[in-house]
Amino acid sequence: MAKIRQAVVSLKGEPFACRTKKKGVTMQAYQGKSVFGGIAIGRISVYKKDEQQVKREKITDADAEMKRYEEAKEEAIRQLQGLYNKAVKEVGEANAAIFEIHQMMLDDGDYNESVDNIVRTQQVNAEYAVAVTGDNFSKMFAAMDDDYMRARSADIKDISERLIKVLSGDGAGGLNAGEPVIIVADDLAPSETVQMDKDMVLSFVTVHGSTNSHTAILARSMGIPALVGCSLPLDDSVDGKMGIVDGSGGKIYVEPDEDTLADMKLRQQQEQEKKELLQQLKGKDNVTLDGQKLMLYANIGNPKDLAGVLQNDAGGIGLFRSEFLYLESEDYPTEEEQFTAYKTVAETMAGKRVVIRTLDIGADKKCDYFHMEPEENPAMGCRAIRICLTRPEIFRTQLRALFRASAYGKIAIMYPMITSVSEVLRIREIVEEVKAELTENGIAYGEVEQGVMIETPAAVMVSEELAREVDFFSIGTNDLTQYTLAIDRQNTKLDEFYDSHHPAVLRMIQMVVDNAHKAGIWAGICGELGADTTLTKDFLAMGVDELSVSPGSILPVRKIVLETDVAAYKAEKKIC
Ligand code: PEP
Ligand code: MG
Repeated sequence: MAKIRQAVVSLKGEPFACRTKKKGVTMQAYQGKSVFGGIAIGRISVYKKDEQQVKREKITDADAEMKRYEEAKEEAIRQLQGLYNKAVKEVGEANAAIFEIHQMMLDDGDYNESVDNIVRTQQVNAEYAVAVTGDNFSKMFAAMDDDYMRARSADIKDISERLIKVLSGDGAGGLNAGEPVIIVADDLAPSETVQMDKDMVLSFVTVHGSTNSHTAILARSMGIPALVGCSLPLDDSVDGKMGIVDGSGGKIYVEPDEDTLADMKLRQQQEQEKKELLQQLKGKDNVTLDGQKLMLYANIGNPKDLAGVLQNDAGGIGLFRSEFLYLESEDYPTEEEQFTAYKTVAETMAGKRVVIRTLDIGADKKCDYFHMEPEENPAMGCRAIRICLTRPEIFRTQLRALFRASAYGKIAIMYPMITSVSEVLRIREIVEEVKAELTENGIAYGEVEQGVMIETPAAVMVSEELAREVDFFSIGTNDLTQYTLAIDRQNTKLDEFYDSHHPAVLRMIQMVVDNAHKAGIWAGICGELGADTTLTKDFLAMGVDELSVSPGSILPVRKIVLETDVAAYKAEKKIC
């Protein structure tokens, strides 16, 4: 490992990548379904799943296999030289050194000898030999005494992965382009989406996925153009090419021609101007022309989303999807980690209401470390509050963190997937035990409102009784629509039947609001429907007290509120 040892001594900086331009290719356009509007212009990166499935395959000609390996190694070294040249210009020699180091590592005698040995003695493919060598060497480094050397185990993995990608003919893939990119993928799980560096994503385009999935919701909360159901090839005809995503038109252009580029740049500028006009609404109260007030809050999944919340002047947080903390983690987030996240949000919102939903793991939001048993029908399975009530130790940890954080701001706790009053009573027992424990240990906590999500038809039907037990309701129209219309929100083929304006759903909202008001509590909407500006007037007419929407939707909704005369609208629509 001489070269590797020698190489790592001067190792500093973080890797990033660059791409080269190719000319003379005609424009291709692909149609998908719009998830969020706007225009994104930039390079396309085909997202490859992290895990490389390396197969062990028998070969007959070891010399030919080693020749293939040598060529792949040369290509990897060439790629690294390109990255080094770009990095030197952009971040200086010291920070670019990582790419030189990786080149030296690829030339390490021990590493190459190990690959050669495995290929020849086992008569197997080079990808497999590299995977085994990379694994062995990185473990060796991980076991070293020196902290610095130990940390280099990741570099061994990095070079091995690069070699495997070259050997198997894959592009760089993923979010490794060193510039913000348009991510194109077959599909993206919420756990993959949350782990991406948001500053590096201009847009998402997926071949599969539904407009109601959590990945779509994440794209909306990031306020970036996004498409699903777009059948474009995930190969070199797209990867690394210039692209334009027209979020509103539901199209992606690959290698756009000059006219399209000019047209889209103009539209991008016009959209920017519209956004700037909306900025004038910042600081204004959400009050209709005839004096009806609305609380206009933001949905977030992470403290990192707070910048958008503040920029868009949200009156509070109406839905913090706390499960995203779990999805970002390799293991259960500790009480301390959760406390820090909740405290940060509470403090940043400086006394404004912050509604934190307890974990809603399950269905499409999967965490391996929960070790959930496979289910035939996970959307109707063990998810959300059902996990909390059957595994109370997980619930207690989260509740402790939430109550502790309540000493730093106005935290409200919300419970998802409620179907009955008895669940609320069981939750209350656990909450009282947690509070008693904190008091006993002299740990401070504040006044905490407790509410439930109304996202099952059962909760709607017992909302009169539920309203007597809680401080507020928040209607989760995404799931409520799914369960009411019996349509799997993940099933992209059913998008055309997923009618979010279905009278059954709208009447349920009215029923919930009325029952909330009868009991003197407030009712809001935190599902995606809350941001549908074609319904804002109707929600006001129904008496909805709060709308919680993605940060980018706050000012467009505020605009409608300020322009609405609710009494006149009701008269016009004959609503009594
Ligand atoms: C909903 O169901 O409307 C909701 C807000 O929760 P989620 O989308 O996270 O299931
Ligand atoms: Mg839901």
